[in-house]
Amino acid sequence: MQDIAVRQDRIAAIGPGLAGTAIHEEDVGGRVVLPGLVDTHIHLDKSCLLCRCRDAGGGLKGAIAAVSGLKRAFTTEDVYARGARTLERAITQGTMFMRAHVELDPLVGLRSFEAMKRLKRDYAFAIDLSICVFPQEGMTHDPEVEGLLTQALADGADLLGGCPYTDADPSLQMERIFALAVAHDVDLDFHLDFDLDPAWSHLEEICRRTMAAGWQGRVAVGHATKLAVLDDAALERMIALLAAAGVAVTALPATDLYLNGRDRKHRAPRGVAPVHLLADGGVTVSVATNNVLNPFTPFGDGSLIRIANLYANLMHLGPENFGECIDTISTGAARLMRIADYGIMVGGRADLIVLDAVDEADAFGGIAAPVMGFKRGRKSFVRPAAVLMRSQT
Ligand SMILES: [Zn+2]
Repeated sequence: MQDIAVRQDRIAAIGPGLAGTAIHEEDVGGRVVLPGLVDTHIHLDKSCLLCRCRDAGGGLKGAIAAVSGLKRAFTTEDVYARGARTLERAITQGTMFMRAHVELDPLVGLRSFEAMKRLKRDYAFAIDLSICVFPQEGMTHDPEVEGLLTQALADGADLLGGCPYTDADPSLQMERIFALAVAHDVDLDFHLDFDLDPAWSHLEEICRRTMAAGWQGRVAVGHATKLAVLDDAALERMIALLAAAGVAVTALPATDLYLNGRDRKHRAPRGVAPVHLLADGGVTVSVATNNVLNPFTPFGDGSLIRIANLYANLMHLGPENFGECIDTISTGAARLMRIADYGIMVGGRADLIVLDAVDEADAFGGIAAPVMGFKRGRKSFVRPAAVLMRSQT
């Protein structure tokens, strides 16, 4: 059993016998401690919409259309309230870094973005929220969209996303998004290849543009579900290309399982990018939440451990792989977001969670709940473990 000493917002020492030397001590009873978890891909602005939209007609197109129909009525206060509900759940499930993908278009203007900036400020005590603005409804058909993205980048957005599959001219969107990223010196995170048709893909173009822009290590793609249907040789080629281009990949199993392969009924393929195989090939990968309680994914409790557990379950990954599964929501995800000094090490950030389990395999396999967390060395939440109330006789 090890002690962790914290000074201000950093880990000062790790080892046995440190107890009794600090001003304040916390006995966590030998429980597992992990670095605060990292959710690289979530949509706070359209979370918690089930009460307004019970039947989206199924599938990706239906979900986009359903949210599009609601978006015009979004107010900053409404987005803030729904986002706060999801954010608080995520915080108490151990998430301490998050990349929120926020839609900008003429329907919603900058209202969701303004709400995100307020959430970032109000919850900074517990989580570092990074704001990724992107054009979910397409971009090249309407110059107003690029104007909104530019305005947001000048006014607090941390990075830029793209969504070429919904654009009238996908290639032109990628060209413009890369140009904006270079002009504003920001990282990129695309929604990409969100179907199971291997006949076409935007992934190679993203890799090519990443290398041409010199943006290696600064570009991520989410979904990439086509990777789930490639044959072995094609997957190997794609892994080598992604590794060479420094393009990271995020699997979003809750959404990808729910939306993909519906035409195959009971024989539906999984439709989730096999990111553990990509990691073996040197690609930076993460597994993330994406949507919570909306037509894209009518499920969700904000738990990243549950999402990574779902990924492990569907990919046939057992205890021998649990460590790499935890990496997809911690160390690997932190690399994707370029978070410096992440991890439990001397000099590392004192962003720590305590799980209600005594070893890592139990914690991951059993989806252990965090019982408390420390952000920048300060206790940021508690979530007491359940207590059985035996009858008193
Ligand atoms: Zn998404």
